[in-house]
Amino acid sequence: MITLVEVLKYDLIILGSGLAGLRAAFQASLKTKGKVKIAVISKVQAMRSHSVSAEGGIAGVIHPEVSGDSLDLHAYDTIKGSDYLADQDAVELFVKIAPEEILFMDHLGVPWSRTKDGKIAQRKFGGMSKPRTAYAADKTGFFLMSTLYDNVLRFENIDIYHEHIATSLIMQKGEFKGVTAIDLVRGEFKAFIAHAGIIASGGAARVYKFTTVAASSTGDGIAMAYRAGIPVKDMEFVQFHPTGLFPKGILISEAARGEGGYLINKNGERFMKKYAPQKMELAPRDVVSRSIITEVLEGRGFIDEDTGLGYVHLDLRHLGEELINERLPMIRETAKKLAGIDPVSEPIPVRPTAHYTMGGIHADTYGQVMLDENTTRVKNLWTAGESACISLHGANRLGSNSLAETLVWGRLTGEAAANYLKEKIGSEPSVDPDVMRKIKNEESRIYDRLLHNETNTENPYDIRRELWDTMDTYVYVFRDESGLNKAYSTIKKLKEKYSKIRVDDKSRKYNTNLKEALELGFMLDIAEVIVYGALNRTESRGAHFRTDYPKRDDVNWLKHTLLFYRTGEPPRIAYTPVRITRWKPEERKY
Ligand SMILES: Cc1cc2nc3c(=O)[nH]c(=O)nc-3n(C[C@H](O)[C@H](O)[C@H](O)COP(=O)(O)OP(=O)(O)OC[C@H]3O[C@@H](n4cnc5c(N)ncnc54)[C@H](O)[C@@H]3O)c2cc1C
Repeated sequence: MITLVEVLKYDLIILGSGLAGLRAAFQASLKTKGKVKIAVISKVQAMRSHSVSAEGGIAGVIHPEVSGDSLDLHAYDTIKGSDYLADQDAVELFVKIAPEEILFMDHLGVPWSRTKDGKIAQRKFGGMSKPRTAYAADKTGFFLMSTLYDNVLRFENIDIYHEHIATSLIMQKGEFKGVTAIDLVRGEFKAFIAHAGIIASGGAARVYKFTTVAASSTGDGIAMAYRAGIPVKDMEFVQFHPTGLFPKGILISEAARGEGGYLINKNGERFMKKYAPQKMELAPRDVVSRSIITEVLEGRGFIDEDTGLGYVHLDLRHLGEELINERLPMIRETAKKLAGIDPVSEPIPVRPTAHYTMGGIHADTYGQVMLDENTTRVKNLWTAGESACISLHGANRLGSNSLAETLVWGRLTGEAAANYLKEKIGSEPSVDPDVMRKIKNEESRIYDRLLHNETNTENPYDIRRELWDTMDTYVYVFRDESGLNKAYSTIKKLKEKYSKIRVDDKSRKYNTNLKEALELGFMLDIAEVIVYGALNRTESRGAHFRTDYPKRDDVNWLKHTLLFYRTGEPPRIAYTPVRITRWKPEERKY
């Protein structure tokens, strides 16, 4: 089908309007006094970006004089939490800027919860030595997003393209050129071309069915970068949040345990005393998730008759109605509405649920995208937030570090892009025939080979269902070679089927069938790299626990996994060393 593709030209494209994308847009605009033309592209209405659902809070040392906290303690907790896979220079940069970002958001007007003397209130999250998580009740993401969004709207140089799904990244000779996208509302195919780009497209935990994340967290930006020749890093490390509301998977925030909630098995025991005697329920998420599943496997969990799945109880009753209403109102509402349980009078059934992508697009400490295992960078492309693997979280993220990460690297990448663009302001990015050919190829892939291929028969929703079952069963909290091999061969088979999928709705405008088919393609690539990385890593570290290799192995595995896309073949694998500055790896006890 020959059509005229609308080509839109900008200085900077930001893929994603979550906290990372909006913060980057704000900073690039501020730095250039509104002179760079920015397109922010989001497949959902910007304020529906996943960040809006973040609950418990944002980490940063803001009152050291009161809490006894310090930047070194924040760094140490993060590095220990990461099971020593975090790059320590990135962690040191992070802890320094995180407090500045909390105060920056304060100045923009976030309505924080406060102490009696007016300070921004902070609570403890898992793996923390001190109360370090600033919060706005349990709706922190909503308040951060609405405040930032309102402020971004004040810049006339920023155009926000709501409900535009990007379908591919256009790269040429190792340089970023732009993205192709479908305007969902009008059903039009477009190309966005720019001098520079920032990928802030969020995580990929939707490759699991039992998950806390929004339907939109399908890892598109990570998969697009991977397909375009950019390596993905440490994808085997998926965070399972210990307290997913059973049987829905929806998050019951760590704030519930931060405020003093207990985890109880069917014998009424606070079982965390066996696994983490000091931190108890506030051990890091990987530890708590494994403890819950161990209780279930050893017969001390509750078993659901319908699904055969096990769970434990999160008990908040002793906190009392007043505290629950003041600090955990959304948790009460969620439990009541989705499970018919009022936490004031009943314990909440919970089970670990897929929550966060520790891996992502390979980037350096400042978020600049890297092209290989050496030092080759893409000179005009950055990534921030959950799509990026900087690597700050290593093998296990500490709760509330992620919101801080979105703002820190949103700011850093926005600033870096602004510096890069200084010399380009006023000049138009060029579209040569090779770029035009790439755009037309993508259009043909979507409309000729996917939407209008009348011979295809495979149902994308059947493929998605089998993918979800496979990931939930074999690539969960505990993994082993045999399960991972099963998952890998199933994903290969599903990818075969995907090449013959049928999209039933052939219309152009708001074609959700087509959108979901595109997302499924991204999810299959993401699932493949998660499983490939997990099969390859023959040790246990952080959230990646191999029952056949139950020990951490620093001699062989203190390194990052990089995977490179190859058409029709398994990914190419390479490694980069972990950057260690001051904290030598030690045994992780809580
Ligand atoms: C329920 C829940 C609660 C959480 N609570 C906390 C918390 O309290 N503290 C904390 O630190 N962390 C928390 N997290 C994690 C944190 O919310 C996320 O990691 C963070 O918000 C990610 O922000 P982001 O800007 O990177 O991406 P997102 O907010 O996920 O935004 C991604 C953006 O990319 C766009 N996008 C994606 N693909 C495409 C495409 N193909 N085309 C166009 N646009 C695209 C989306 O439309 C969206 O605008 C929580 C996570 C969950 C699931």
